[in-house]
Amino acid sequence: YKNVWEIDPELFELMRKEKKRQESGLEMIASENFTSLSVLQCLGSCLHNKYSEGLPGQRYYGGNEYIDEIELLAQKRALEAFDLNPEEWGCNVQPYSGSPANFAVYTGLIEPHGRIMGLDLPDGGHLTHGFFTPTKKVSATSIFFESMPYKVNLDTGLIDYDKLAEEASLFKPKIIIAGVSCYSRCLDYKKFRQIADENNAYLFSDMAHVSGLVAAKLIPSPFEYSDVVSTTTHKTLRGPRAGIIFFRKGVRKIGKDSQKIMYDIEDKINQAVFPGLQGGPHNHAIAGIATAMKQVKSPEFLKYQKQIVANAKRLCLKLQEHGYKISTDGTDVHMLLLDLRNKGITGAKAEKILESISIACNKNTVPGDKSALNCSGIRLGTPALTTRGLVEEDIDKVVDFIHRGLLLGKEVSNISGPKLVDYKRILSTDVNIKAKVTVLREE
Ligand code: PLP
Repeated sequence: YKNVWEIDPELFELMRKEKKRQESGLEMIASENFTSLSVLQCLGSCLHNKYSEGLPGQRYYGGNEYIDEIELLAQKRALEAFDLNPEEWGCNVQPYSGSPANFAVYTGLIEPHGRIMGLDLPDGGHLTHGFFTPTKKVSATSIFFESMPYKVNLDTGLIDYDKLAEEASLFKPKIIIAGVSCYSRCLDYKKFRQIADENNAYLFSDMAHVSGLVAAKLIPSPFEYSDVVSTTTHKTLRGPRAGIIFFRKGVRKIGKDSQKIMYDIEDKINQAVFPGLQGGPHNHAIAGIATAMKQVKSPEFLKYQKQIVANAKRLCLKLQEHGYKISTDGTDVHMLLLDLRNKGITGAKAEKILESISIACNKNTVPGDKSALNCSGIRLGTPALTTRGLVEEDIDKVVDFIHRGLLLGKEVSNISGPKLVDYKRILSTDVNIKAKVTVLREE
């Protein structure tokens, strides 16, 4: 029972440095957050030691009396977090994270080489929604299933639902995926449902990015229209790094003549998670889900989610005042996509420049970009900054840092090699920017 700093000082030093980096910079990666102490305590607990393959009450290992209770509590609270009736919805809290959760959904619902349609990665979708390039099937979802991605409209940046409907009627997918990693507008789940029904497809919504906003009822919920919903629990939901799959149970009526659909997907999903794809559940993470879902029901959580959106909207407004183009002209959620094509700077360079002034974000394709590596935008999000307590006035300062950083960094033509050192020096001489990051933290 020795501490990590006694047993492994080398590793501990790296952990300490990472903690300092997280504390002293501005974290604007839209998918990241700072989870609560109670979640971290679950993650570092003895629950980690236990094997418990199977579901509560049906384990392949003994000694799971308390683990069963913890998993049942996590399931119950996950349903409550989204106001779901346990007669109509069930959930599996065992997925190790969002990607295995999504793969379990496909594996459970369709046969190998079954057809899926998700938003293309360069248009704001996720790798696990079936991404491939002209030369490579990149994601396992495109290797083991037949994927035909849908796109956004190049002029508006909005999902082209008409085109999706047209292409779905030809491709006849078995699953339509409604979910995004970089898209700042609400999804039209009713329209997705209509297209799915026309093609006898499942509607699978991946709300990983926006599940906190859904729980707080600040944006439309996917549950009314979807057959299956997945989420990560570590983004806006601010829980542990893990995943949940929600599946419908019972009967749903569809169409004008109220045709009844009987759901038989509970076992399919559960068996796809285990024994299909995973072994022992991560019980420490499941406990983290339980405590995070309790926090979702608190008034502070609602206040927090409202502030995330207020901060994101302010971020858009202030960047626009500085002449920046925002894809779709704004945001409804916690993130935005900054289109830098009119600023003569690439996404990769912008990411590097901002990193050098302690602002973490990620380069991102904007609609129309040909390559994910050579892309023209950056994605910025407010969940982590909002957890740190930043409000609209602080966001104004953050925009000032971003703008001044990009103006300075742009003067350096080549970001690599000695030039990178050069431009880091230019930025570090701007004492103001460095000082302000620190001041902002102290405030
Ligand atoms: N789904 C969406 C929409 C995501 O944005 C992500 C991750 O960013 C995932 C799934 C995958 O989650 P994970 O990284 O936990 O596997």
